[in-house]
Amino acid sequence: MAGAILLFLSGLLLGAMGGALGYHLWQARQPKGPEVKDAPLPPTGGTSDPFAQHWSQKLLELLDWRVFRDVVAAYIRQLGFEVKARAPDANGVIELEGFDPATGKPAMLVRCQAWDRELVDDRAVLDLHAAMAAAGVTQGAYLTTGRFTPAAVTAVAAHNIDLVSGSELLERVGQLPLAAQNHLLNLATEEHYAMPTCPICNVKMVRRMTVTAGRPGVYFWGCRNFPRCERTFPAV
Ligand SMILES: [Zn+2]
Repeated sequence: MAGAILLFLSGLLLGAMGGALGYHLWQARQPKGPEVKDAPLPPTGGTSDPFAQHWSQKLLELLDWRVFRDVVAAYIRQLGFEVKARAPDANGVIELEGFDPATGKPAMLVRCQAWDRELVDDRAVLDLHAAMAAAGVTQGAYLTTGRFTPAAVTAVAAHNIDLVSGSELLERVGQLPLAAQNHLLNLATEEHYAMPTCPICNVKMVRRMTVTAGRPGVYFWGCRNFPRCERTFPAV
């Protein structure tokens, strides 16, 4: 009887050891991704924010699309137009209408695209040309914080569309009177200027991380209204 109990207990011990070994083998087989690094939160403006003190390409690249829109709208007002903004598309590409203040009639159509993640291509500028034709406006401008593809430059050659890259915009802002430059800088560096806005809900987004078993988390900007709104942007 005592022998049987001892055999039973040894069996339990061996089983437990086998289970522990199995768990360690299972754990060793789990996919190992790169270590997740905490992406820094974007600068928020104010006197301690080095990017908010003067105009630079880095500042342009940080701007939330909505802030960029407000800066572009203010810049167009400096050129003597009245400006009205239309709702953004799902990517945050904005259309602004410039009105002749004397006649009150639409005089130009402007699109602006923040973030330097993609070059603005010929499709985007030809789409603006089609919108100009539909609105009966002959003057257009496309402003980006980034750059245009060579095909986009070729595509607008026959049309009255002004392509303004990030570096070109910096140059033009630099030619404005100092008070106007500072006015635009104050608009650009409002609080949380680098935090994206949801183009669908028009609210500032929150930084989140994906949680998938066995995979490293990936940071992204998500809408505060999730799950009602699923719009995201990569957190860079
Ligand atoms: Zn949303």
